[in-house]
Amino acid sequence: TLPILLHRWIYRRATPTTLPTFLLIGPSGAGKTALATLIERSSVVPTHTSTAPLSIETLLPEPYVPASAHYRSAGDPAYERARRFLLLDTPGHGKLRHFATKELSNPENVRGIIFVVDAAAVADSAGLTESAEYLHDVLLSLQKRYTGAKTSKGPKEIPVLIAANKLDLFTALPAHLVKSHLEKAVSAVRKSRAKGLKDSAIALGGGDENAIEDDRENEWLGEGGEGEFEFRQMEEVGTGVVVRGGNVLGDGGADVKAWFEWVGEQL
Ligand code: GDP
Repeated sequence: TLPILLHRWIYRRATPTTLPTFLLIGPSGAGKTALATLIERSSVVPTHTSTAPLSIETLLPEPYVPASAHYRSAGDPAYERARRFLLLDTPGHGKLRHFATKELSNPENVRGIIFVVDAAAVADSAGLTESAEYLHDVLLSLQKRYTGAKTSKGPKEIPVLIAANKLDLFTALPAHLVKSHLEKAVSAVRKSRAKGLKDSAIALGGGDENAIEDDRENEWLGEGGEGEFEFRQMEEVGTGVVVRGGNVLGDGGADVKAWFEWVGEQL
């Protein structure tokens, strides 16, 4: 094990502390741990793993190419550097969500968010609502971070990949249906949250109308008005959202191609 330890030590020494970071989030059972394990195992270099939240230092595997290194050749040190990233796996359990929220409020090196959903679970309404509530809150914190930024330029963009996982299951919805179901369900969450705010304002005796209106606007995800929420509305606040399907496990082996491609696009 000595050579391995040595290799690991050298690798860690050479790794800058500000690696591009991807947050792995989503409801419990979606497949985050399975995905993190797969990435850890597929790495050609020793990965460095720590716990709580689990962080994995790894390389974008071949044949995926970081967008920033398209014109570099393999072997070029800059190309190798560009492939490095850090994956932060955050616990999906409700009570532990503050891990993810903390990273979102201070996302210094966050290059993107991978939101994993179980594409079979979102076929029924309980599973769909659970995923949509979590996703709503994540998108709302990204929106608040953007609109609340002090600088006129606004903070750096943070794109979101919705990884529709478990497509190997025949009960799983295809990616385009995961997208439309989630958009509808997030619209419903948005509506019920707004109603909750209004009811509690009334219960508290009304108060300052303007303050209530400001609060309503701050807490409203996406465009105002009567229309449904759509992911493309997030582009206004620096967050491109894409939904891409795949599976970590399954009889035919893993298919995580679309997700690695997306990671490459952000590097
Ligand atoms: P986490 O709570 O998000 O970390 O989810 P896990 O990674 O623990 O996965 C939850 C369950 O889903 C486990 O039983 C996994 O074996 C299973 N699972 C994860 N990914 C897939 C997949 O792509 N296909 C299938 N069929 N099962 C999966």
